[in-house]
Amino acid sequence: MSARLLDGQSLATRMQRDEIGPQVKAFTSQHGRPPGLAIVLVGDDPASHVYVNHKVKAGTEAGFRVDLERMPATASLTDVLALVQRLNGSAVHDGILVQSPLPKAMGAGAEQRVFDTIAVEKDVDGFSAESVGLLVQKRPKLVACTPSGVIELLDREKIAIAGRHAVVVGRSDIVGKPMAMLLLHRDATVTIAHSRTPDLAAACRGADILVAAVGKAGLIRRSFVKPGATVIDVGVNRVADAAVVAELYDESHPRQKVFKSKGSLLVGDVHPEVADVAGALTPVPGGVGPLTITMLMMNTLTAAKARVGH
Ligand code: NDP
Repeated sequence: MSARLLDGQSLATRMQRDEIGPQVKAFTSQHGRPPGLAIVLVGDDPASHVYVNHKVKAGTEAGFRVDLERMPATASLTDVLALVQRLNGSAVHDGILVQSPLPKAMGAGAEQRVFDTIAVEKDVDGFSAESVGLLVQKRPKLVACTPSGVIELLDREKIAIAGRHAVVVGRSDIVGKPMAMLLLHRDATVTIAHSRTPDLAAACRGADILVAAVGKAGLIRRSFVKPGATVIDVGVNRVADAAVVAELYDESHPRQKVFKSKGSLLVGDVHPEVADVAGALTPVPGGVGPLTITMLMMNTLTAAKARVGH
């Protein structure tokens, strides 16, 4: 069997062009300003710079006002909290996103304190305690972008959720937990697996919908997957080790060529051999990743509309 590929990239492009773009345009002409997003970037983490640039570019292209608020790595937690407070009161910013991670020097717990300071109606990442609490109680305001992108993809691909067994591998606050909650609220029976799950393969084999959000290249093997299951690969792993790439792709595979020319390869948590047994599968890259940014825009639009009262 060869799995149907769930093309998140083209869904993201379509949603941005046909749904978000026109709504942003209508909002702008009705309210005399575009929906606004403020992105706070603290320090010099190279991966964060790449992610933020993508968000600024995609948002700007879709017609949003996107302001990048940069702070040096030496900024204090008090400085960041003051900036967030200022943005909470801003008339032109409907959404606020603080790029994770904050510099380590700010101390443990700093990040959550910053997230918790974002006004709930502007919390477009959905990471604050209040946003999470509302999600858990099934009265969500703005929900974390990656898991809501997964639900969007399942819905648009007409993959039923209700009554199915969903297994989410990973229990982070930003992906695993909200993912499990969204699936639960759509009436799936949900299992959450993690690094202390004794027999991960057996836990995964029960899944009709298997979501891998771990951060370990190729962890999910063919033997983990029930034939015909839908497999959603959230993992994004940059692999620079030729031995690891060789375990994923044989020498003649086109991705080996990409690896050799670039010196590294972006791969998911799901081993490519899973395509032989799964019914449907998201690729990496081009699966869940692009939808994360789309859902960020969707959340900013939702926040903007809620602020003007519709
Ligand atoms: P975290 O590191 O916060 O969480 C990873 C989770 O995986 C933990 O719950 C951990 O368990 C679990 N885990 C680790 N090793 C194993 C194992 N061997 N078996 C089973 N479970 C394991 O990662 P995130 O949730 O932030 O991200 C997960 C992946 O998703 C990463 O690759 C990340 O890059 C990617 N990502 C992709 C996004 C996108 O837009 N596509 C957005 C956000 C993340 P425990 O709790 O026991 O430690």
